[in-house]
Amino acid sequence: MTSRLSRLAVALVATAGATLGVTVANPAPASAAMTICYNTSQAGSYAGTANQAASIWNNATVNLTLSANCGSNLRIYQITGGGSYAVRTSLGNGRVYIDTQQAAQYSPLRIMTHEIGHILGLPDNYNGNCAILMSGGSAGTSCTNPYPSTTEANRVSSLFAGTFSATDRNADIFRDSWPAALAPVS
Ligand SMILES: [Zn+2]
Repeated sequence: MTSRLSRLAVALVATAGATLGVTVANPAPASAAMTICYNTSQAGSYAGTANQAASIWNNATVNLTLSANCGSNLRIYQITGGGSYAVRTSLGNGRVYIDTQQAAQYSPLRIMTHEIGHILGLPDNYNGNCAILMSGGSAGTSCTNPYPSTTEANRVSSLFAGTFSATDRNADIFRDSWPAALAPVS
């Protein structure tokens, strides 16, 4: 009953607003949300991790949707050695490489969401803060947070809405986000 009343109240307010000619913010029609088809055919054991990372980004953002295996805007690769990295060919397009050796030290899901973050237009931000996804390995191997901060997520949403200019959409390669952890002291 309460929620029905609430909805009724909302409807009445909306009607009143329309009647009074209240100007509702009406942003320029955004271009259709971009569907980023990611391909996990070469992701090996990280295909499931890629799906999890896609869900995280989809839940955190608007104006884009990561969708599995509908095309190849984004290819995910499992590699061994050389370091995890991302190659952005343009906003929403590129390749992500997950190094099994780093994924044995750092959270594979954090690596995956971070590297996809580069494809979505985010630069590195090595401030050591585990709450910041793009701090990457600077937050240490104990940091397993796979979620972008609100600021990071909002920036991606804005980029895909066409806000911000140039550099974050350009082709770029992002390496060395995950420094080798020191060998454990024996
Ligand atoms: Zn990075």
